[in-house]
This record gives sequence, C-alpha cells and structure tokens, in this order.
Amino acid sequence: MGDLHRCQLAGDPAEAGSRLSGSSSWNSSLEKREPDRGLIGFVCECAAVGCTTRVEATLAEYQIARAQPTRFLVAPGHMDPDYERVVTTNERFAIVEKLGVAGELATDEAD
Ligand SMILES: [Zn+2]
Repeated sequence: MGDLHRCQLAGDPAEAGSRLSGSSSWNSSLEKREPDRGLIGFVCECAAVGCTTRVEATLAEYQIARAQPTRFLVAPGHMDPDYERVVTTNERFAIVEKLGVAGELATDEAD
C-alpha cells in the first residue's frame, strides 16, 4: 500500500539531462536567464575545436563583441596571442580580435 504510484512520480534524470544539453540554439534561448544581473550564457567562441565552455556576458557586452566580424567572445584564458589580439577582458570573459589571414577572411565574408 502506498507505493503504487512511485514510478509515475519519479522523474527520469537521463531524460532531463538530454533536454538541457545538445541544443544548438541555446545561445538565443537563454536571454531570460538571470534577469536581475542581466547576464546571458554564451558558448565560448575560441579557436579550440569542440570547446563548449560557458561564458556569461550582458547583452550589451555581447553586442560590443559582435560589432566587428573579426571579434569573438571567449572564456578567460582561451585566447591565442599568435592569432588574436585581446580587445578587453574581465573575470567572466575576454573579447578577442582575429589577426592576419583569419581576420581578413572574416571581414571579406561580412562585406
Ligand atoms: Zn574556449
């Protein structure tokens, strides 16, 4: 007695986890998170293949980063000084500007 509905009430942690990860559009879906601080979660845009480090920035900070096609928002320490110049950095993220060929290519695409 009393245990009949236990399995219906228990959530499936694996299913919940799969809903939280693997979404390719989560950058745009996170805009309502933490409205008190105005911070939005972004995925690090550094050159490391497969980097999924989360970076937090305000919408204004993100717009500064994307104002130039050669600029990217990355996690602190994820910049590569050989190919990128640090535009600004703080405890949450760094904004880097691609140098040389990589930057020229990005500019051409946007033009
Ligand atoms: Zn990274």
